[in-house]
Amino acid sequence: MLLPPRKLIVIAIGVLLAGAPVLLIDYWISGLIIRQSASDIETFSRRSIHLADKRLSATLEALDGLAKRGIDRCNPEQIEALRTASLSVAWVKQMAVLGAAGQPICSDLSLPAGPIRIQASRPVRNSPAVIEVVQIGDHSQRMVRVRRPVGNGTNSLSALLPAEALVAKIGMNDVDTSGYGQLALLDGTIIEEIGTRPNDAESLSAIGANARVSELFGLRVTTSSPQIEEAALISGLREIALTITGIFAVLLLALGLLLYRRHHDDPVAELARALKAGEFVPYYQPTVDISTGRLRGAEVLMRWKKRDGSIVPPALFIPMAESSGLITEMTYSMMRQVIADLGRTCADRPKLSLSFNMTAQHFANENIVGDMRRIFERSPIRFSQIVLELTERQPLENLGKSRRLIASLQELGVRIAIDDVGTGHSGLSYILKLGPDIIKIDKLFVDALGSDSNSSTIVETLVDLAGSMRMDVIAEGVETFEQVIALRERGVRSAQGYVFAPPLPAASFLQLLEAIEPRPQNAESEQPGRGVRRTVSAA
Ligand code: C2E
Ligand code: CA
Ligand code: CA
Repeated sequence: MLLPPRKLIVIAIGVLLAGAPVLLIDYWISGLIIRQSASDIETFSRRSIHLADKRLSATLEALDGLAKRGIDRCNPEQIEALRTASLSVAWVKQMAVLGAAGQPICSDLSLPAGPIRIQASRPVRNSPAVIEVVQIGDHSQRMVRVRRPVGNGTNSLSALLPAEALVAKIGMNDVDTSGYGQLALLDGTIIEEIGTRPNDAESLSAIGANARVSELFGLRVTTSSPQIEEAALISGLREIALTITGIFAVLLLALGLLLYRRHHDDPVAELARALKAGEFVPYYQPTVDISTGRLRGAEVLMRWKKRDGSIVPPALFIPMAESSGLITEMTYSMMRQVIADLGRTCADRPKLSLSFNMTAQHFANENIVGDMRRIFERSPIRFSQIVLELTERQPLENLGKSRRLIASLQELGVRIAIDDVGTGHSGLSYILKLGPDIIKIDKLFVDALGSDSNSSTIVETLVDLAGSMRMDVIAEGVETFEQVIALRERGVRSAQGYVFAPPLPAASFLQLLEAIEPRPQNAESEQPGRGVRRTVSAA
């Protein structure tokens, strides 16, 4: 099924919102890795220079000690002295006495496998000693040799150190960052490398940017920062973080969709949507003058016309509309639609009245008078054609205020009807206090007219009362001819009910109206009695 564009937009926004934390975390982790690597590299170079200095100094000190003791040849005591000295500096692999040509004459321990090739050498400052980078044997194992002349200067003492003993480790907890570091002589001869040497020109030129130097031994530690991507790949941390934020993002998205769905399943939100979409439409139930059979007007009854074409009766949504407060806007929407449906028709028939169902909420704030003005002032419908029905079932909270508002509306020319009279508990005095223009007798009494004498008495009393208070009476829910006759006998003039017509859509109501009350020839100056009139069959 294709998703509607609005849903797609919501999903897209959701994805963006969910993606943001992923990007943020990614950015944060990258930063973290770069900072961590930079700090690892810095530690590496500082510690390596320190280590090389310290170990070479200790080695040199041991050689100096031997020289002072006159160890320059290879008798057993001297070899023993070499051995003790070598043991005192743990990282020294071998101490030896070298001949005039530099070849080892004797050593403390085993001799290196294979010949020794000197790659480069450098004098040590303030010392007769030199530092040499040497390759040993066929495997070209690189080592550092400290050598100092001894005795008359033909022989010398030497100590071999593995190159790796002179550099620190990069990174913490054996987690390899992809940084690179090297220890070299000042002339550039590499002693030891750690990490992967970068092969791009940019990184290579960065090597040495933050070099550290040992002046004493003529050494230099240089580093290059890791490549971000490489570092990120190596760091499992990033994958973990990305996975977690990914899951989080999906959850966020799911939650968003769930809330979106819930919002759409929420009946109040659904009502608000339907209102915006114009799904609430007015139906019109005619009110008939039962003494003449003429059509007096209509009661506007709301219907919910759903997108699938089904019609929902008001009993199923008015309570929710009232409790949610949407009812006010829905009522005003009815009024505007009525103007569009019947504006012209009403202008041509000034006696035609239209009644709207109001709720207590409308009379709870002062706006109602201003709102009615705004809606109808410039419409073809006169205020005198408007009836506002207030049900007796829901008593008004603030009677004094409601009376004032009713009086203001009546000043405009609007008439007030009390609906469902006889069904509430408020009593007649309450109704009279509101000063209505019309009372509507509930279907309950109309139904009981023939059978129940009490109902007859109530109807008669109401008609009498209405007469003396100059109020009109309308009987509701009239379904039979007998009821029409019974009402007429008791002096009721107006009625509405299925016997005349059910609530009708605008087009049908207009048709009926045109048939019973044709548009006057000279609509602007309509006179009673002009035009062809037919009476409703029931009358
Ligand atoms: P109500 O104001 O008492 O409206 C009369 C109800 O009786 C209407 O029901 C009408 O269709 C029905 N009716 C009319 N003649 C007969 C008849 O001969 N026999 C029977 N059995 N019923 C008849 P509907 O249209 O379903 O409206 C029900 C109620 O919903 C209304 O009662 C009114 O209280 C409320 N309502 C309808 N439209 C609106 C509205 O726009 N605003 C507000 N606040 N309430 C509305
Ligand atoms: Ca009503
Ligand atoms: Ca009613």
